[in-house]
Amino acid sequence: MLPEGESVLVHICCAPDASYGIPAMSKRFRVSGFFFNPNIWPGQEHDRRLQATRQLQDALPFVLTVVGGGEEEWEQATRGMEDEPERGRRCEACIRMRLARTAREAKSINIPAFSTVLTVSPKKDAAMVNRAGREEGEKAGVFFLEADMKKNDGFLKSVETAKRFGIYRQNYCGCRYSLRP
Ligand code: SF4
Repeated sequence: MLPEGESVLVHICCAPDASYGIPAMSKRFRVSGFFFNPNIWPGQEHDRRLQATRQLQDALPFVLTVVGGGEEEWEQATRGMEDEPERGRRCEACIRMRLARTAREAKSINIPAFSTVLTVSPKKDAAMVNRAGREEGEKAGVFFLEADMKKNDGFLKSVETAKRFGIYRQNYCGCRYSLRP
């Protein structure tokens, strides 16, 4: 159990999910955002989602750390799983490496807990995300704040908020495999 008011480093996968997730978590914790998404393909799309996240940062506002690179690590983590369906083993490996990086960042800057807004999306299995976060948090020595942010109409609220701020909403998860018809 994390005491209210504690600092949490929250992994941001995209601005629409963060538009609900960051304010929701900020009601109970001191939240800062962490953008690390080497899964997003192509590079222009990565930059577009980052730009949308910066637009949200200005509108809310919140502290945001951006870390680039990691593409080769992502390729290694997901190799041999190219044909897996969404929510399958490839997605777990992809989410796990991004959460592991978030956990290490939190540890290095003395933030005691980390989390993610990934579970705002109805396409993300909250049980899998939370299990990966717990395990990566244990390895790094940082508490993982579990959530299922699609509950209480979280996804619907993210759609409304992103629309209100005029924020770009992507139509595929992120990697080149999720672009397949
Ligand atoms: S579909 Fe999304 S979560 Fe799954 S591997 Fe691709 S980018 Fe990662």
